[in-house]
Amino acid sequence: MHIIPVTVPRFVKKAFPNVVWEFLAKGKSIYLTFDDGPTPEITAWTLDILKQFNAKATFFCIGKNVKEHPEIFHKIITDGHSIGNHTYNHLKGWKTKTDDYVNSILKTQELFNQQFLNSKFANHQPSTCPEQLVLSEVEVSQRVTNLFRPPYGQIRPKQVKKLCHLGYNIIMWSVLSMDYYNTLPKEKCLKNVIKNTSSGDIVVFHDSIKASKNMQYTLPKVLEYFSKKGYEFKRIPE
Ligand SMILES: [Zn+2]
Repeated sequence: MHIIPVTVPRFVKKAFPNVVWEFLAKGKSIYLTFDDGPTPEITAWTLDILKQFNAKATFFCIGKNVKEHPEIFHKIITDGHSIGNHTYNHLKGWKTKTDDYVNSILKTQELFNQQFLNSKFANHQPSTCPEQLVLSEVEVSQRVTNLFRPPYGQIRPKQVKKLCHLGYNIIMWSVLSMDYYNTLPKEKCLKNVIKNTSSGDIVVFHDSIKASKNMQYTLPKVLEYFSKKGYEFKRIPE
């Protein structure tokens, strides 16, 4: 039995005023986020389903996974989503010294930038693959953002302060799908999202193997349900 609430209590939000928990959205907008990728097959599947619903999202990538799967990292960007930082090795903020924590984030950012420079986005050659959108340098640099999400939602005030000073925007969430609990029935995961999401909410999913049973059941249904109600799915920043 876990005790993590699906939505975030007000007192927790108040204790961390410098981080983003949700947006004051104009109109009907939902901000889907995917943590822990890129993961072979799972991330590609996620990108396909998002495309079917013309949905944009934000992917908080782990540096190590980007290093191992740069082609998936590129696909996330060329599909029009944004990239955020999720540390190099999925570090726990409460158990990591602030300097080590920040260095892991900077190492990841450096890798993102390197990937961008090495990639075919940087040269403006038209792609031979019609599926692949060719983006300008400016567009790509806008997609690789200064957003950071702490793994496990664990971050100490000192780490928040340091990262804000370095220009990072720390993005938490307002709705947790809990897709990563493999013992959670998939129907419950769907209910978590449908019942608690409304305009401006930031919803957490994971494009990881561990979460795939629940995420692959829930995501298409969430996209369909809210699309029919006239919602748009947007990346951060829009
Ligand atoms: Zn994570």
